[in-house]
Amino acid sequence: MSDAETLFERIIAGEIPSDKVYEDATTYAFRDIAPQARVHVLVVPKKRYRNLAELAAGDPQLLADMALAAREVAVAEGISESGYRVVFNTDGDAGQTVFHVHAHVLGGEQLGHFGR
Ligand code: C5P
Repeated sequence: MSDAETLFERIIAGEIPSDKVYEDATTYAFRDIAPQARVHVLVVPKKRYRNLAELAAGDPQLLADMALAAREVAVAEGISESGYRVVFNTDGDAGQTVFHVHAHVLGGEQLGHFGR
């Protein structure tokens, strides 16, 4: 992987402004700039991995931290009872555009079935 900073590293560093929802020692969460649901928050690990597969193989504890952060986001956004979706787009066919692994937390309304 290149050493060039990713967009999300610049957001975490505060070099690019973001609407922060949650932060802890290992993760940072902020509202997606182009929301696909009433609640759409991205959970990003502070340490960069390219995608879910590389994160799971390289640092399973950090993946668990992301799941716990998603839960904290859901509580903060008031959707922990109504339900929510957590999505990791992974590479080409999934349309991943930022190659710094992130979880989309989506909810706040009835979501359509996923797929095509
Ligand atoms: O899964 P994927 O890589 O496509 O997700 C990247 C997400 O980052 C998009 O949902 C996009 O709207 C979001 N984004 C953002 N702020 C930016 C650039 C992208 O929230 N400045």
